[in-house]
Amino acid sequence: MDLRKIGRFIAAKRQENSYTQESLAEALDVSNRSVSKWERGICLPDSGHMAELCKLLKISINDLFNGEKVDMKDANKKSEQLLIEMTKRQEANNKRAYANICIVAVGAMLLYFTVIGITARCMTKEDFWPILIVVAATLILLITFFFAFRTEVDLGHYACKHCGHKFTPTYGQAARAIHVGTTRYLKCPKCHKRSWSKKHF
Ligand SMILES: [Zn+2]
Repeated sequence: MDLRKIGRFIAAKRQENSYTQESLAEALDVSNRSVSKWERGICLPDSGHMAELCKLLKISINDLFNGEKVDMKDANKKSEQLLIEMTKRQEANNKRAYANICIVAVGAMLLYFTVIGITARCMTKEDFWPILIVVAATLILLITFFFAFRTEVDLGHYACKHCGHKFTPTYGQAARAIHVGTTRYLKCPKCHKRSWSKKHF
C-alpha cells in the first residue's frame, strides 16, 4: 500500500469533483488538516470516514486503497494483494508496539530503582516523605507493568507446538505461565497439552 500514491489519488479525485480541501473536510465533518494529511500521504482516512469519502469522490474502497481506478476484472486479485499487505503491515505494527512495551517496562524499572536509591540515601529517621515517595514509585511501577502486560498479551497470538493451533491466552493464563522472551509455557485450548508456545505477531 503506497500512502503517497493514495494521497495523490485523493487530491486528484477531489479536484475532479470540484471540492477544495476545505469543502471536502466540511462535507466529511473532519478538519482541513486531516484532508491535507491524507493527500500528503501521511496517513489514511480513518475507517469511519472511508465509505463517505469514496462516495463523495465517486470511487470504490478498492480504488482508494490502490490509489487508482481498479479495473473490475482485476478487482479480486487487487483486493487479495491488499489484504496480504495490510496483514503484513499489522504484523509490523505489532512488533513495533511490542518493542515499545519492552522499552517502557525496562525504563520504568530503571527509573524505579534510581528513585529508590536516591531516596534511601537521603532518608533520615524523622522524615516521612521518603516513605511516600517509595509508595508512589511502587504504585506507578505496578500500574505501568499492569498495562504493559495486558498490551503484550493482546498483541499477536501463540502457536501450540503439538497441534499448531493458534490462540490468545486469557490474562490470567498468561500471568501464571512462565516465559522466556516472547515464548510462554502455555496449555493449548484445543489439544490441552502444554508446550513452549512462541508468540507470532
Ligand atoms: Zn495444541
